[in-house]
Amino acid sequence: MKFDPRDVKWFAALSRAASEGIQASKLLFPIERQKDGVEVYLVESSRKDGSVYIVEVHHGHDATSIVCSCKGGQQRRVCKHAALAAFHAGLFPTARELFVEEVEEKVA
Ligand SMILES: [Zn+2]
Repeated sequence: MKFDPRDVKWFAALSRAASEGIQASKLLFPIERQKDGVEVYLVESSRKDGSVYIVEVHHGHDATSIVCSCKGGQQRRVCKHAALAAFHAGLFPTARELFVEEVEEKVA
């Protein structure tokens, strides 16, 4: 699904991931799936039984789409694994960026 930093669903999913303390690690060695503009993360399941989901972050020209291998992700729902991968990929705006946007909207 498309990553939208203004969609509160992504923040909610990220905060679920943070409160459950699940871990994400970026795949750094080349695999078949990995190609230009695609980052692959392994994200721990909240069951903490050693299982992981594969999250692909596709950096497009004007949009970023994220694909997670979990059940929700397969149904194109925003999930905590995808949100955590987005966070590690630096896609969430910082608090400062959000504040500046808010001020600009008030001024405009
Ligand atoms: Zn997922």
